[in-house]
This record gives sequence, structure tokens and C-alpha cells, in this order.
Amino acid sequence: MLNNNGGTHDIPEKPLSSTSNPHLFGEHDNIQLYVSESCTDSESLPEGYEWIGLRETFNLLPHPIYIEAGKASEILYFDTHHHYCGICGAPMEWHTAISKRCTQCGDEIWPQLNTAIIVLVHKGEKALLVKARNFKRDYYGLVAGFVETGESLEECVRREVYEETGLAIDNIHYFGSQPWPYPMGLMIGFHADYVSGDIALIDGELKDANFFDRDNLPPIPGKMSMARMLIDSWVKGSEFRS
Ligand SMILES: [Zn+2]
Repeated sequence: MLNNNGGTHDIPEKPLSSTSNPHLFGEHDNIQLYVSESCTDSESLPEGYEWIGLRETFNLLPHPIYIEAGKASEILYFDTHHHYCGICGAPMEWHTAISKRCTQCGDEIWPQLNTAIIVLVHKGEKALLVKARNFKRDYYGLVAGFVETGESLEECVRREVYEETGLAIDNIHYFGSQPWPYPMGLMIGFHADYVSGDIALIDGELKDANFFDRDNLPPIPGKMSMARMLIDSWVKGSEFRS
């Protein structure tokens, strides 16, 4: 994926119409970044190498390179899901590093991010942690959900907390954001304060929800997630991203 023009591949100067060929999508430290589809059979790898998933690279790559790898994954997803124009049905081709254009009607499209919020709700010295039905591991995270059409981020935060837990909140304030390329997302984190209500798992997305003390936490998500960053900020007593 990374190439400094010193490799053995014949790298094209311009973006191509398909990521079956290398597609130039960006630059990092004066190194041009390309993405392409590749077979993943182990026989094609040099001895001592193995294929790993993007999530696993979080703990192996320098963070800026992990971010670029995530962008590459999103560009590849965008390409493979937009072969044809949604208006006239003609083939699409790359127009810029991050956009495609219809070969007939000229309509230009960019990758569309799925925007999601995630929120840590404070109640005095306690924080609201939840266990989702779809969590693969047995840990507690935070209330989260996708922003709907026509909705502000604050409205989404209030709606998701109410739908998942039955609680009313206020004093919503921004914490930070994070690209979430699984497959194409932007996660936006908030802190908020509990106002009223008793916990009720209204929409059935959760297995459990409860307020926890800092010194009595259940298992929580790993370091790569916005949920963990929010929980760590609360544990440290800092509600702003460091
Ligand atoms: Zn078209």
C-alpha cells in the first residue's frame, strides 16, 4: 500500500478507474500513498509475513500510519460500492484522489461517512456504562448511535440516551472525534449530565445499563475506541481530550 516510487510496481501518475490497480489517494511525510485490492492468500506473501486486519494494526503501526491505513480502507470500500452512477447507471471513474465522476452525466460523488455519536453520561461521581446486545466481548461501553437525517448532534445524543436507557440528559459538550473506518464512519464523542428518569432499556439494544464508580468499573473497551478515551478522561477527572 505504501510506495515511495522505489518499489517494483509500475505505479501510475493518475488515479485509475478501479482499485484493482493502485490508486493514489494521499501523501504522508512526502511519501505517496496508494491503495489497491489484493488477493489475501498466504502463498502470495514473502516468508515471515502474514495478512492482518485493519483493527489489529492499531497496536502495531504508528498512529498517523494507522489513520492513513483506515483512509485507504474507506477509499477501497467507496470504490467497490460505487461502480455505477446512481442517476443514469453509467460506469463511474476516479476524478480526484477522493471522488468519482460519472462517465455519461458527469455527476460527481465523494465517500459518505456514517456519522455516529457516543456519550458518557455523568451522575454525580458515577458514569453510565452500558452492555450492548451486539458486543462480541463481555464488556461495558457507552451509549452510541448513528445520526439521523435532519438531526443535530445534540438532538441525536439526547435521543439515543433516551431510547437506549430511558434517561433525560443535559449539559451536552463536545469531547473529540475519531475516524472509524469500519467500514466508513466518523465517531463524535460527548460528555453529558444526567437530569432525570430511571434506567429502562426501551429499544432493546442493550443487555444492561448502570451507573458505575471509578473504583468499581466492569470490563471496558480497548484503547483504540472513543468509548475508552471518554471513560479514561472521566477516570482522570478531565473531560477534555488530552
Ligand atoms: Zn450518470
